[in-house]
Amino acid sequence: MLIFYGIHEFSKKVTDKAQVFCKTCQTKVDALEQQSFNMAHLFFIPLIPLGTKKVWICPECGQDPHCRTRTSRAKKILLCILGLPFLAAIWFGEGKPEDAGSMWGVRAVFTIGYLILLYVTIYHQPFVDSEDEGNSEPSA
Ligand SMILES: [Zn+2]
Repeated sequence: MLIFYGIHEFSKKVTDKAQVFCKTCQTKVDALEQQSFNMAHLFFIPLIPLGTKKVWICPECGQDPHCRTRTSRAKKILLCILGLPFLAAIWFGEGKPEDAGSMWGVRAVFTIGYLILLYVTIYHQPFVDSEDEGNSEPSA
């Protein structure tokens, strides 16, 4: 049985506007604060009032300008470390002789993926947390 449920936003309106630094776009934007009255619905019939909710929205990307959306370097390094045993198993693990042909494709795809992961980890762009840091020129 298919059940339609979710949250419906009533009387959505812009309540405030402020110039903030969007952490996703990495630029200064005129963010909008939207207020709505939310209700949980079942089969599009509003049933449970959830109250008033205010959210900030970046007009450029549609995300919350205060939310961090990029992967941190620590997580990338962790993924590199966790990926090494997996890569070793693909290259040096014992496989069935009839799978030898397809294993070369798997080895190629995962090795290229791992090299791309290493590249983005090594050349990781540091996360800019405020507008001032984003506009600063690197010193010679
Ligand atoms: Zn944005």
